[in-house]
Amino acid sequence: MIDLRSDTVTRPTDAMRRAIAAAEVGDDVYHDDPTVLELERHVAELLGKDDAMYVPTGTMSNQVALRTHTQPGDVVLAAEQAHIHIHEMGAPYALSGVTLQFLPTVRGTFTAESVRAAIPEIPTSMPAALFQPVSLVCTENTHNVAGGAVWTRPQLDAVAEMAHDLGLATHMDGARLWNAAVASGVAEHELAAGFDTVSVCFSKGLGAPLGSALVGRQDLIDRARRFKQMFGGGFRQAGMMAAGALFAVRHHRDRLAEDHANAARLAAGLAEIPGIAVDPSTVATNMVYFDVTRLPASPFAERCAAEGLLLLPTGPHQIRAVTNLHVSAADIDRALAIVERAQAA
Ligand SMILES: *Cc1c(COP(=O)(O)O)cnc(C)c1O
Repeated sequence: MIDLRSDTVTRPTDAMRRAIAAAEVGDDVYHDDPTVLELERHVAELLGKDDAMYVPTGTMSNQVALRTHTQPGDVVLAAEQAHIHIHEMGAPYALSGVTLQFLPTVRGTFTAESVRAAIPEIPTSMPAALFQPVSLVCTENTHNVAGGAVWTRPQLDAVAEMAHDLGLATHMDGARLWNAAVASGVAEHELAAGFDTVSVCFSKGLGAPLGSALVGRQDLIDRARRFKQMFGGGFRQAGMMAAGALFAVRHHRDRLAEDHANAARLAAGLAEIPGIAVDPSTVATNMVYFDVTRLPASPFAERCAAEGLLLLPTGPHQIRAVTNLHVSAADIDRALAIVERAQAA
């Protein structure tokens, strides 16, 4: 099977399993698991921040960040297609009591000017109490639903600077920040520079079994630890999984370039197939979104699956394909042959 549904389907390699088996562990709630502590130190350093907090999922990491930065009743600015909105089950509303307000976007990115425009100008004639306070701006890099789109460093810096000028906090959902760094040639700590907190995933393209880290300023991470426990994230002998994450960060970051090359190869090949609509110029990292024009996405995906290729239908005619560490360039060529037959049948 060639599994292109997601980069979350990646399974631990043999070497990673050996690192997991050998992990020294403690108790994460006592914060004395040596492997968790080592992972937290390492990731904080990579991102150029004071501290990091290991958590079971990226969703928990984002939602703890929102809870840490806000008070119930606040407004959080984000892209409408942000993961925190469309895939986190209403958690901003349910767990933090905040309202999301959406900024206009181009491929998942927005501008400093749109942040400024979202802040209400309160006329002197009206009480401030009639205007809900905006307290946080969230970016997502790479942007998942926008096709793994990458923010440039100037775009990020401009948004963060504007936010801070306006007295807002900044959070980045960097589930795939590793991909953004490889694709843009700008180190993670530079991309993270303007952000008070950043969430990074180990369980996507890096291939660890699970886990994310919330990284940021010391006072924020200290406060975040309280909400990690509140949200049920104290995961005891977490060092087993942290060992997989450490292995992934140390050994699988650079190889993300292979995933990006394979995604570009896939997009270029798809563009040659009649009945497939794709714009290869939008493929910046490991994701390819394309349309099947002659039949609906679901039966198309079923035909591909029957031939050994798993794809993810994401719309009536839309398909997502994500390259990952189990997929080679030869697999991409096989996948293209399967797609060609499936859309013609
Ligand atoms: C996967 C993902 C998350 C959440 O990670 P989980 O570990 O699946 O909860 C957050 N943001 C983005 C952009 C993601 O792709």
